[in-house]
Amino acid sequence: MPQALVNIAYLISALLFVFAFKGLSHPRTAIRGNLLGALGMLIAIVVTLMDKSIVSYELIILGFIIGGVIGAVLAIKVQMTAMPQMVALFNGFGGGASTLVAALAFIEATQLNKTLGTQETVATVASGIIGAVTFWGSLVAFGKLEGIIEERPVRYKGDQIVKILFALSSIILGIYFGLERDISYYWYLVAASSVLGVLLTIPIGGADMPVVISLLNSYSGLAACATGFVLNNNVLIISGSLVGASGIILTNLMCKAMNRSLTNVLFGGFGEIVAGADEDKVYGGKVKSASPEEVAMLLENARRVVIVPGYGMAVSQAQFAIRDLMKVLESKGIEVEFAIHPVAGRMPGHMNVLLAEANIPYEKLKEMDEINPTFEQTDVSIVIGANDVVNPLARTDSNSPIAGMPILDVDKSKTVVVIKRSLAPGFAGIPNPLFAADNTLMLFGDAKKMVQELINALKES
Ligand code: NDP
Repeated sequence: MPQALVNIAYLISALLFVFAFKGLSHPRTAIRGNLLGALGMLIAIVVTLMDKSIVSYELIILGFIIGGVIGAVLAIKVQMTAMPQMVALFNGFGGGASTLVAALAFIEATQLNKTLGTQETVATVASGIIGAVTFWGSLVAFGKLEGIIEERPVRYKGDQIVKILFALSSIILGIYFGLERDISYYWYLVAASSVLGVLLTIPIGGADMPVVISLLNSYSGLAACATGFVLNNNVLIISGSLVGASGIILTNLMCKAMNRSLTNVLFGGFGEIVAGADEDKVYGGKVKSASPEEVAMLLENARRVVIVPGYGMAVSQAQFAIRDLMKVLESKGIEVEFAIHPVAGRMPGHMNVLLAEANIPYEKLKEMDEINPTFEQTDVSIVIGANDVVNPLARTDSNSPIAGMPILDVDKSKTVVVIKRSLAPGFAGIPNPLFAADNTLMLFGDAKKMVQELINALKES
């Protein structure tokens, strides 16, 4: 295939990727964005296969079938709540693939007696280091989220120095590889970077894993980009940089939403701190529980209701029941809006995806900055399976692990109804004074079941 044609096709793919990002930035255009991205990838794959002369189609088809089947089974079986660890695995495999492809490109070049230029050599080293760090870091992130390995930050004296030593070893081995052009050095550097990947992720608590996964996603993009320079493949360079850049932007947004710096996430050992506030002191004799019928009566008299979903909504898959509740309330002339905290749930956009699945109109989903000033004019806020994102300790307790995290100001509404199964803490592991506030009523139970009971009570009244 003429090189000019290949490059034009790659350019079209790259443009489609950019349009895909644009589309994915809004729920209304997300499906189109996804399709554009898939089309871009299809063009890139077909052109790459046609461009290469020495290609074993049998092996590619075999890999396609095995990978496709594993991917499809995993995607169908995975629970929505386990999505972050699945993304971690995908990132990890991306990094691992970059490491192996760079190695194979080098071996092939050696067999063909080709001398690698500086660009290819530097890129091979970068693929090896970043790819191995991504692969092992992602496996640790997966293990932490699956509960296979210790979720709490694992720290020890001098851990930062050990990490620096492994990072330096990887670079020095990379230099040796460049000078000697000996594949053994490549595997040594991969081994050192693999240990580095584990060491970088193990001291980070499970609560911060989604941020780490987003960062590793960015790394997997950079590894792919480096491999693009090894193979001199423009579309890999462009798509790798897009993934790298978007991963880092997302990481930054998530850190901002938690009021943490990236350095604090990576080196802060969040999750180490044992809950500062004592549960008995916070809740002792102050928590008021209500029945669905009592809450329904309260709602009957409301003019404006704000629903605040959190991780518990995802666990109980309450989004469809919540849509029905919205419809019943609206049929009674009550204004209903949804307050979406940027880190509610366990992955970015978690709440938006679930509520969109239940066809709740996008206009009703209000972001934190927009909805916060309206809580004072809200008669009832219904917090459904959310905890940390509505915890006023973030404002008042500077020693709290969530200190300074912007929260949804539900406590400012006239009445707050909290639906959750118990007084158990959320991800940050701390009590929540909102549950003991004068204007709060607890509706204890599974989110979906309680919302359904609330609907029944509203219909009967
Ligand atoms: P939380 O983890 O704070 O709380 C979830 C609450 O849901 C729990 O207290 C639990 O209480 C309740 N719950 C669980 N299952 C059910 C059920 N079946 N029915 C009803 N309630 C249930 O969730 P939030 O969404 O408020 O906060 C998200 C947390 O995750 C924040 O700390 C955030 O920083 C963190 N995080 C989020 C990321 C993201 O990208 N979204 C990334 C990184 C971290 P009970 O057991 O009593 O029912």
